[in-house]
Amino acid sequence: MARHVLVTGGAGYIGSHACKALAKAGYVPVTYDSLVTGWRDAVKFGPLEEGDLSDRARLDEVFARWQPVAVMHFAALSLVGESMKNPGLYWRHNVLSSLTLIEAACAAGCLDFVFSSTCATYGDQDGVILNEATTQAPINAYGGSKQAIEMILRDFEASHGLRSVIFRYFNVAGADPDGEVGEFHRPETHLVPLMLDAIDGKRPALTVFGSDYPTKDGTCIRDYVHVSDLVDAHVLGLQWLEAGKGSDVFCLGSGTGFSVREVIAQSRAVTNREVPIVEGSRRPGDAAVLVSGSTKAIRDLGWAPKRSDLATMIADAWRWHQSGHYER
Ligand code: UDP
Repeated sequence: MARHVLVTGGAGYIGSHACKALAKAGYVPVTYDSLVTGWRDAVKFGPLEEGDLSDRARLDEVFARWQPVAVMHFAALSLVGESMKNPGLYWRHNVLSSLTLIEAACAAGCLDFVFSSTCATYGDQDGVILNEATTQAPINAYGGSKQAIEMILRDFEASHGLRSVIFRYFNVAGADPDGEVGEFHRPETHLVPLMLDAIDGKRPALTVFGSDYPTKDGTCIRDYVHVSDLVDAHVLGLQWLEAGKGSDVFCLGSGTGFSVREVIAQSRAVTNREVPIVEGSRRPGDAAVLVSGSTKAIRDLGWAPKRSDLATMIADAWRWHQSGHYER
């Protein structure tokens, strides 16, 4: 019998890669997506159910139709800067839509839940390498809303027996090495795709957000993890739950931080082209350093990142960038 997994946000960047990994592992990913920021063209590995997460009746219908064995919940607003300008949007959308989904999953008896959280729940920790035990202290509404969802999951475990694997990760980059899916946001706000746009003249320049941070070259330091490695961890997290190992939290990162200037230098090396840049001011809500250790995921889940070195991530992103984009 087919083992369906309900993937919210399956038409988005990380969700579409997760669908591919699930299909490869023998599951049938059922994408639940409003297509507001996702792409119909990105749904290639299983059926699409169009719908809004706040629509409980629609969710009930989809759970009844597919009887999924688990939920992978990616769909969310995820822009730090936007969350600082419009916190109400983030609290309302991310928290309420997740709550509706969690209630629908519990009502349907679908009690294995893999959740896409973020190192933004940690806030600015002054250069500390983050791990699962680090105290969460978000400094933006995006991180706050994700932390709230983590808390909701714990409450529903106590009340309904919902089991969750929570992944906290930060800067996902790269694209499927086979080129079937990749990163494409509109509007684009992320460093790597914006930089590639600047390299091939689609934008005049990349703006570096702040050069006066207390870091080695003054720019923010982030931990970049390849999207294909990241979604492999999600499949392992699902198998962990199915094996009855219980709820847990895992950080996912490469354990190495790179400054914005280092990412720019690596892109120059990979593409063999100049990166036009302008120096801009800090972006509100940005922490100076966010680096996430992954010792626990490697040790306990058996996660083995294969493509999370900066050169491979940028090369994969560049190949995708040059090969065309989705149409709705
Ligand atoms: N960044 C930048 N210019 C841009 C976009 C991003 O300097 O046009 C910086 C940003 O301040 C952060 C890093 O690049 O330090 C990664 O930002 P991104 O938006 O890709 O991911 P986030 O860290 O917000 O998840």
